[in-house]
Amino acid sequence: MTLKKQLTHIIRREYQDWFESQGLPLQCGKGCATCCSVNVKTTSIEGELLYDFIREQGKEQWFADCLNTGQSGATPITQTTNGFAASCLAGEDVSGAEEPGRGRCIFLMGETCGVYEARPFSCRCFVSTVLCQSQSTAEVDQIVLTASTVVMQLLEHVAQREYWGNLQDVLLALSDLPPNKKVRQQLGGLSLETQARARLGSGQPIPGFLLDNKEYDTVMGLLATIFNRTIDGKRVEDILNGK
Ligand code: SF4
Ligand code: SF4
Repeated sequence: MTLKKQLTHIIRREYQDWFESQGLPLQCGKGCATCCSVNVKTTSIEGELLYDFIREQGKEQWFADCLNTGQSGATPITQTTNGFAASCLAGEDVSGAEEPGRGRCIFLMGETCGVYEARPFSCRCFVSTVLCQSQSTAEVDQIVLTASTVVMQLLEHVAQREYWGNLQDVLLALSDLPPNKKVRQQLGGLSLETQARARLGSGQPIPGFLLDNKEYDTVMGLLATIFNRTIDGKRVEDILNGK
């Protein structure tokens, strides 16, 4: 597995452990899908991990059929998570964010996610303390929202200078990688990929975090745990810093 995929795994795993340690009454689970819209954002590395899962499962035909089912409905990316953080830290006007795409996620099979084990972090971190069906909206604890944003920033940092944006668009853009040939052969045509690439942004390095004093200690604890993990004897923090 590539270093970037290992980093992505570690960051997502540590977030999951941190979340579980918060003891919040999580209502989300496989088969609950009111929140599953076409507006999921991801990195190219998470997209590659999703392709790995599809190959392992031998689900290439189903996957290509999903990608062929239509347009993502996404608008072109004007700012990534780290781009947004950079603008905030620079005191720039960050209003006028892009409109979210509307509609059901292409990977829903009935009310169940067909790629649940490999779903991107944006899906993993959308965790509600109330069942959405009961009041038509999720309730996410503020500290969880903050920690999720920090983790999104880390995942983008890992995938800097690579595709970043709508899940369907990232997956279409990655279809020309050699291991994804079987999916690509089933896709409707080059225009789908070309249009998807035109809407995508590019991952950027972390410019800093947007934390208030109350959130700092909790989120710094999560970050310290991630940074202190090692890969082949090297600390994750050093790897992220390019050392
Ligand atoms: S956010 Fe709401 S709809 Fe989505 S999995 Fe959680 S409870 Fe279900
Ligand atoms: S990838 Fe799965 S969990 Fe994420 S929005 Fe789509 S169906 Fe829902």
